[in-house]
Amino acid sequence: MWGNVMKCPYCGGLDSKVVDSRSLDEGVRRRRSCSVCGARFTTYERVQPHNIFVAKKDGRREEFNRDKLSAGIRKACEKRPLPTGTIDKLIDNIETELYHSGKTEIASSVIGDLVIQRLEKLDHIAYIRFASVYREFADIGALKQAVDMIMGERTLTAATNQLPLLPT
Ligand SMILES: [Zn+2]
Repeated sequence: MWGNVMKCPYCGGLDSKVVDSRSLDEGVRRRRSCSVCGARFTTYERVQPHNIFVAKKDGRREEFNRDKLSAGIRKACEKRPLPTGTIDKLIDNIETELYHSGKTEIASSVIGDLVIQRLEKLDHIAYIRFASVYREFADIGALKQAVDMIMGERTLTAATNQLPLLPT
């Protein structure tokens, strides 16, 4: 488990040094050297130290589900010209932030905002798509306002490397 003390399988010693770390899909693989007997052993530490529950707007709670988060983000990013691996990195990043917050219950709107903040920097179309679902723009006027705001920002930051909002 993340941050837990790793027991040496040879002598049972509780003190070890990390000699090598490698990120895996589900956590981190570490080579450790026991400070007591000097033996080397490998640990697999999951990124997930505890369960997180998502508090939904209607008052229901459900366990945080990476696949569900992933599906929403992928849908928003559909057919957007994003480099391979960008979406996975984004999801990893959000998941890590959630687990590192140490909270066991997080409002769905907080998670939505984390996604929105990142998509806003990544791709404007994906941002609008995601925000229109999660923030539930009250009406088309509110949505238009958000688009106008982005278009305004784009004029100011035209020289940056943002992906084009409109096909050229
Ligand atoms: Zn040992």
